[in-house]
Amino acid sequence: MTQHHTPEPAVTTPAGSPPLRDTRQRRAVAAALDASDEFRSAQDLHQLVRDSGERVGLATVYRALQAMVDAGEVDVVRSEAGEAQYRRCDVAHHHHHLICRGCGKAVEVEGPAFEEWADAVARQHGFVDVRHTLELTGTCADCRRAGGAG
Ligand SMILES: [Zn+2]
Ligand SMILES: [Zn+2]
Ligand SMILES: [Zn+2]
Repeated sequence: MTQHHTPEPAVTTPAGSPPLRDTRQRRAVAAALDASDEFRSAQDLHQLVRDSGERVGLATVYRALQAMVDAGEVDVVRSEAGEAQYRRCDVAHHHHHLICRGCGKAVEVEGPAFEEWADAVARQHGFVDVRHTLELTGTCADCRRAGGAG
């Protein structure tokens, strides 16, 4: 009932992007992820989606990726340059990655000894709900045979 005489603030809606009409775009992004075994940057995925004939903006791709990461559907790692890279992974099962710096190939690995160490250190310092990220990068056998990466 209280009427405020608040003058309409001059909101500049950036692109006027509708909130949850992205499902179709999101599917396209998911399909692009499914099509690749390697970690891909948002830019790469954006290109893949466009190649598939879908008209999607890069911002939408970022949003879709973030939503999938939040939902635990997609794994994200940082490249050496600090760029986020995405891959469809078995996120229900905790694992780590061994990533080739030459070709981007990613192998899923487990590190039971590392997990134990992390748990022990956390316990020792009274920490609970501890999370960690550990990514290993190197040159894969193929790239090594091809004369080394870079
Ligand atoms: Zn993974
Ligand atoms: Zn490689
Ligand atoms: Zn771990």
